[in-house]
Parts: sequence; C-alpha cells; structure tokens
Amino acid sequence: MPLPLFRLRSKCERISYPLERRYLHLWRGQIVQNSSNWLASIMLPVSSSAELQPLYIASLDQQDVYLRVLDNATLMLHYQLWRPRQLLLDTKPAEAAVLARGLQLSHWLRNNRFCGRCAAQLYLNEAGMVLQCQQCEYEQYPRLSPCMIVLVRRDHRLLLAHNTKFPAGYYSAIAGFIEAGESVEQAVHREVHEEVGIQITDLQYHGSQSWAFPHSLMLGFSALYQSGVIQVDGKEITAANWFSIDNLPILPPKFSIARQLIDQLVSDIETNLR
Ligand SMILES: [Zn+2]
Repeated sequence: MPLPLFRLRSKCERISYPLERRYLHLWRGQIVQNSSNWLASIMLPVSSSAELQPLYIASLDQQDVYLRVLDNATLMLHYQLWRPRQLLLDTKPAEAAVLARGLQLSHWLRNNRFCGRCAAQLYLNEAGMVLQCQQCEYEQYPRLSPCMIVLVRRDHRLLLAHNTKFPAGYYSAIAGFIEAGESVEQAVHREVHEEVGIQITDLQYHGSQSWAFPHSLMLGFSALYQSGVIQVDGKEITAANWFSIDNLPILPPKFSIARQLIDQLVSDIETNLR
C-alpha cells in the first residue's frame, strides 16, 4: 500500500531561511536526537517504514523548523530518546511553544492515517493544515480538546480539591472537559456542581494555556462561591476544602495555569487584607 504523500501547505513553501532549517524528530511521542539539542541541524538518517515527508511547523530564531514523524522506525544505536514533558517545562517559552506544536501535530498525523468514514488513506491538503480523504472528501483537522479550570473564592479562602490522580497532599482548582453542545460557562458551573456540589457566581475569564499531552486547551476562570456545602463526588475528587491563603496545601507547579490562577487570587486577597 503506498504511503500518503505529505506536502507543505502553499503558504509554508515560502521558506524564509532555506539554509537554516532545523528538524524535530519525534518517534511515538518521544524526541529522537544525537546531540544535546532537541532540534537537529540536519535530518537524522533513520530507516522508517512509514515516514512522512518533513512538515514545516514554525519559525524559531530565524530558522524554519520541520517536523519528522517516525513511525515503526529503526533508530540508530547512538540516538537518544527524550521524553518531552520535562523539556517543555525547562525550556524557553518560544521553544516550548514550537515543541508543543510539534507534539500535537505528530499525535494528529500518527493517529489519522485513514479516513474514519470510508477507511481510505488520508492526505495532507495543500490548502491548509488538514488531512483529507480523496475518496469521500472527509476532512480531519488537528484535534483540540477544550477544558476549563476554575478557582472559586469564598471571602478570603480558596476552594481546592484533591483529584484521585494527584500525589498525596496535592490540591488544585476544579477542572474538566467541555462536553458536546455546552458553552464554556455551562461547563464551569456543571463541573463545580458535579465534583464538589456547590453553586458559583461571578465567573471571570483569566486566560488560556495549551497542553500538548495530547491536545488540551485549558481555559482559566475565577468565580465566587454562591451557595451549597462541599460534597465531593468520591470518584474524580476525593477531598476538597476552603483553604486560607496562609495555610495552602501542596500546589501545582508555577508554569501551570492552575498555579497562575491561585497566585493571582492570593495576591488579590493579600491586597484586600492590607
Ligand atoms: Zn473517506
């Protein structure tokens, strides 16, 4: 069976820096590299039975970055595999954005080789970043999964919850996926009520954060307590409480939108208390 021919979309064929290409090699969600740099200056020689043509994904520091998705590849012995999660946290924001984009696109390309409607092969359409079926014209775009996170405030205290997936003693704001047919605001009210049993009001949007594992887009809110008593669902959430800002539990890392929401509200409360 012939492999799909992946082409660069037309607007990406205008290469600004043809001599300064860099390559992000990804194999099953891991970075393949042969130096200390996660962006290779040359295409690494890799034998792959299902390799797609390099795909332009971004420009970074006056260099065009191409993604190589290696599936079923035979990797050279001296190549190293890096799990990208820690690198995403440690690297500069501009580099992290390119890496996150590459990860999300590689996940999309690896998992959409064939049409979900008629099972024919999918091809990258030159008109845009879309996989298209030439048999039934079904189109598959890179997937994004919108989710919401909300930090609820009651007087000078914050509502934080312990999810079953968290380490012991670790708490965060309430979060969840937006369901089909819902507005973001409806999802926020529903998730809070489902997970901790209370009603909230005065929803305020704070910002968003992309998360590449595998394709989430987190929308961050704050809200005020309105009514009800905390009652955890016992499935996703096993504990939740109102925490005063001078007695907070173990919190999410600084880079996360959850922590940014917490730090912002703690700062607001401290200002009010002065
Ligand atoms: Zn089809």
